Amino acid sequence: MTTVPDLFSDPLSGILCRLRQLGAPWLLLAAGHAHAAAPCDDFVRWLPALSAADCRDAQLQPAEGARSVRGQPIYQRDVAVPEPRLRVLVVGGMHGDEMSASALALRWLALAQADPAEVSWRFIPVLNPDGMFRATPQRTNARGVDLNRNFPTPHWQRDSRVYWEQRTRKDPRRYPGPRPLSEPESRFLHNEMGRFQPHLIVSVHAPYGLLDFDGPAVEPPRRLGRLHLDQLGVYPGSLGNYGGVHRSMPVVTIELASATELPQAADVAAMWADLLVWMRERLPNMAPVPAPLPEPVTVPWTDPLPETPPAAPVSSETDPGP
Ligand SMILES: [Zn+2]
Repeated sequence: MTTVPDLFSDPLSGILCRLRQLGAPWLLLAAGHAHAAAPCDDFVRWLPALSAADCRDAQLQPAEGARSVRGQPIYQRDVAVPEPRLRVLVVGGMHGDEMSASALALRWLALAQADPAEVSWRFIPVLNPDGMFRATPQRTNARGVDLNRNFPTPHWQRDSRVYWEQRTRKDPRRYPGPRPLSEPESRFLHNEMGRFQPHLIVSVHAPYGLLDFDGPAVEPPRRLGRLHLDQLGVYPGSLGNYGGVHRSMPVVTIELASATELPQAADVAAMWADLLVWMRERLPNMAPVPAPLPEPVTVPWTDPLPETPPAAPVSSETDPGP
């Protein structure tokens, strides 16, 4: 497998670097996989408190066949151990304007590399690169879909529409999409749930400053660092609802207090330590593997762009959820 340092030193990267110095962005666009050659350019530019060295040490790899609506690779990194007690999937940046969530996933990746704690980890720090790596980061993906409302919960067609129209008053930031798994980013994560079969999913968000939990009969964590449990209820099409309630995969949802600033290093470490203690106490020794998901959804990522969702004024009275 090619490592990131190899990619940095390959001849193509050198050419792309030179083009960048010459100020030839159209040629870079034409080159197509500039992002694949240098993921850390984007990561370091957009994520808070992330150095180039930290990003290189993360050794992010483009997930096989995983592309955003605009064709950007989606990166992941496995930290595996020979006989894992558990498999844990950590997802950040599902909402593109929550840069702190992606930065936290990368800090935790470094902690897992130092001590994986008998766990096989899969980190996906930026699920929504089109939403994040743009002049003004946005919550939704390039088609204006809230990925955290696009998972195939039962009665999605009815409930997501009712939720969006009545609870959010057609808030464009919470548009659930035309159909479940209509987006390549949500399809990728859905397929990863089937391939990796995690015993736990940790989904990192911001900026509500709390901890949420969806799942089967497992005592939720009461706190992680400064964040305390405050269960918000479920939303049609959310990952917590789909994974935790309907697929029996516990989902810990972390809402950091700031979308743009990473918590202090001591707090990042305290949250990690609290998570490991909770996992050891509540998810002992290979909880039964959940039932396999349906076959991967293979709709091509080159779906034509549908019409953008209608813009609507957002009422401050709505309670649209994180
Ligand atoms: Zn979010």
